[in-house]
Amino acid sequence: MPDRAANRLRQTHLHTWTHPTKGLVILDERVQANVPADLVRLFVVAEKRMARFQKEFVRKLLHASEGDARTACEAYEQFRSRSRQTHCYVCKRDLNTIDFEVCVHCDWIRCKCEACGCKFGGSSSS
Ligand SMILES: [Zn+2]
Ligand SMILES: [Zn+2]
Repeated sequence: MPDRAANRLRQTHLHTWTHPTKGLVILDERVQANVPADLVRLFVVAEKRMARFQKEFVRKLLHASEGDARTACEAYEQFRSRSRQTHCYVCKRDLNTIDFEVCVHCDWIRCKCEACGCKFGGSSSS
């Protein structure tokens, strides 16, 4: 297969770092909507989800090596291609897995209004 230059170009939006506990993380400049000024939205490769981090902290992370960066970008592209879309059952806002975080407990997309599967239907087991 020929080396596809288009793939490389697409990745110029992406910055990869190595996080001390979470491993590879990706910043996609295109998906920073609705993120508070002191935070940045990163894709956590090992967890296959978006999460927000303090900008101050991210500045101190190590740049990922080229091989790691490639792995990270592939994982991220896969994540994007499988991104889910739905709407909030409380406030009816449109939700997706790129611009919103996924709850680590119930794996539902968590809305700005804090609604997620944990609070749905009141069937909490605790
Ligand atoms: Zn909502
Ligand atoms: Zn939840």
